[in-house]
Amino acid sequence: QLSKRLARVGELVPEQSRLADIGSDHAYLPVALVLQKKLDFVVAGEVVTGPYEAAKKQVRKNGLTEQIIVRLADGLDAVKETDKITAVTICGMGGVLIRDILDAGWNKQRLQGNERLVLQPNIGEKPLRDWLTVHGYTIIEEDILEENNKIYEIIVASRQELRVAYSEKERLFGPILLKKQSPIFQKKWQGELKQRETILAQLAKAAGDQQARIQQIEKEITEIEEVLS
Ligand code: SAM
Repeated sequence: QLSKRLARVGELVPEQSRLADIGSDHAYLPVALVLQKKLDFVVAGEVVTGPYEAAKKQVRKNGLTEQIIVRLADGLDAVKETDKITAVTICGMGGVLIRDILDAGWNKQRLQGNERLVLQPNIGEKPLRDWLTVHGYTIIEEDILEENNKIYEIIVASRQELRVAYSEKERLFGPILLKKQSPIFQKKWQGELKQRETILAQLAKAAGDQQARIQQIEKEITEIEEVLS
């Protein structure tokens, strides 16, 4: 039984993709998608021995060694040209780490540029969207959900002929999430707003010149209030 978060990621992987799941841990996502008969070729990459062994065990236990190849490798080094990967999932890490994995893969030409990326950063969505924008990706779908009191964003991107120039605001809030304005999105940014207001109150009491920091946070508060209003 997949978590709600991974189940939603799985829904956003196109049927019969050749998938690379990077940072696969127990390979729960690949195993579930193959058992659902949605996929029959997955590379599960892991850089740490413990999770790599756990992934191998999980795949063996489910009798899926023909369909799921588990590789011990750093990021997209897990992918070979002959795999003909068409979709990549990188989930459950910080956005900066996901960005660094994509960047290293891009520089080593492990990404052909036509794969669909399904990314689920736990935090740091903005630097990830910055990278996607600079590298000519279009954000084709986004979702936001809550599970166990945590809010998760999912970003689906692919390179399209027409390049989209996302604004600073779209890269912070997510171009599609911004349009949808779902209750969970509102909840997330209400929380972010509160956090900044608390910091602001603390800074006002603190000794020394905090003017630059105060101005920055005030700017962010205005930005969030505009989106929520
Ligand atoms: N993707 C799963 C999920 O969403 O539930 C597992 C998330 S787990 C918190 C993150 C996993 O990414 C860990 O098992 C970690 O070893 C792996 N990881 C971190 N950096 C990595 C890298 N550069 N290459 C491959 N795996 C990596």
